[in-house]
Amino acid sequence: MQRKVRVRFAPSPTGPLHIGGVRTALYNYLFARQNGGDMILRIEDTDSQRFVPGAEDYINEALAWLGITIDEGVREGGKYGPYKQSERRDIYREHVAKLLDAGRAYIAFDTPAELEAARAATPNFQYDASTRMSMRNSLSIPADEVKRLIDAGEKYVVRFKIEPGREVKVNDLLRGTVTINSSILDDKVLYKSADDLPTYHLANIVDDHLMEVTHVIRGEEWLPSAPLHVLLYEAFGWADTMPAFVHLPLLLKPDGKGKLSKRDGDRLGFPVFPLEWHDPKSGEISSGYRERGYLPQAVVNFLALLGWNPGDDTEIMSMEELIEKFSFDHCSRSGAKFDFEKGKWFNHKYLQEMPDAELAELFKPVLRAHGVDPNAYDDSYIQRVVSLVKGRINFVSDLWEQSRYFFVEPDSYDPKAVKKRWSEDTPRIMEELIGVLEGLDDFSSAAAEPVVLGWITDNGYHMGNVMNAFRLTVVGECKGPHMFDITELLGVEETVRRIRLGIDRIHPE
Ligand code: GLU
Repeated sequence: MQRKVRVRFAPSPTGPLHIGGVRTALYNYLFARQNGGDMILRIEDTDSQRFVPGAEDYINEALAWLGITIDEGVREGGKYGPYKQSERRDIYREHVAKLLDAGRAYIAFDTPAELEAARAATPNFQYDASTRMSMRNSLSIPADEVKRLIDAGEKYVVRFKIEPGREVKVNDLLRGTVTINSSILDDKVLYKSADDLPTYHLANIVDDHLMEVTHVIRGEEWLPSAPLHVLLYEAFGWADTMPAFVHLPLLLKPDGKGKLSKRDGDRLGFPVFPLEWHDPKSGEISSGYRERGYLPQAVVNFLALLGWNPGDDTEIMSMEELIEKFSFDHCSRSGAKFDFEKGKWFNHKYLQEMPDAELAELFKPVLRAHGVDPNAYDDSYIQRVVSLVKGRINFVSDLWEQSRYFFVEPDSYDPKAVKKRWSEDTPRIMEELIGVLEGLDDFSSAAAEPVVLGWITDNGYHMGNVMNAFRLTVVGECKGPHMFDITELLGVEETVRRIRLGIDRIHPE
């Protein structure tokens, strides 16, 4: 019988979710939705040493921001809970006991010093079939002694007893069947009595099984653990319901070789976290895509294409389209270079598609931050400003640089442009221009343009010089959208006022 697709994203709350982790969550989500399956969010917090307060909330907030919705989890609930591993100790204890009873695991008392000594004595020491009998464990010491040590409160771990010489096959949907020999594996620790907690490997397998996970989609860094996971599934007698594995390739540095790191982000000036992160210990703040002004849809689209393509060169895809098109057949097996410039491009594209009214709303806080009260303007004014300049922005915050002159008069005039465009004769021509503008019945762009251009040509003035001098007085530099669209919005009074200001203030050297 075909099982219902169930996937899980299983982060450890050891810090902010890295952008690579976000991509893993996204691929899980796309696959689940495409197949009408369930998306589980499981918090793997069995490593108390590395627990970081706030990390779990951060994960929830980041996924919610991106629109990656969860069906079962700590917040969402669900019938396979609890979804936080530290709340599942009884379950793990019971499963550790099962392996011990079946002779598939054993108890080991070796202290850190003893392990250290073994490593020092034997080059490339590995705790496995070849060495375990020389160590202090329930295979090498009599049962009553084992009992005595446990009763005396001696700390121990439970190790998985790996049979050497077996071919272990991992079925990976991206890589095919990956085969390794079990002799290279060590007897991994599954449980530690000291904190009464399982290790990642045991908890992860037990939960994947109990939560009926059908596909384990995770980062490539977990591929080396997969053979051990396969053996654990078998040892428990669950081989029939072994999930399919997908080990996603790494996100790579934008330049050079190797895994994308936070340092690359700092060095090249882009975030590697979805949301800004305030480190509770160091107080350090790491920038996030949200706070940098990225739209969640743009981040999702950008991340989806880092390691996958739809089979053609379509780039802009909504979440719905991604869900429809996603396939492991088009996932790459090699690492994806993290092209953050492309990320900006996606943001630019999504901003162009956003309705002006929505963009204008996002612009209002930016205006406030620059001391402009948006309430002093009609919404339609802000919307028209936005529509005129949005083609030039990658971020909402860029709107200010591109459109400030719609809200405040220029406080300086680009000296290069002044040098090139402003001559002794210019003030006189600008005075004349004021007359032409004030004489217009209709100040709209379409009506004003032919009149002004006609006046320039009729008088034999230099088109480029006059128009640029005009622009300089109104904008402060020789940039921006079509001049008569600007003046239409500013209105005749403000336009004329600025030309007068320019005549007063601009003095070529
Ligand atoms: N807790 C592991 C992590 O932090 C989960 C790995 C897995 O998905 O199996 O990534």
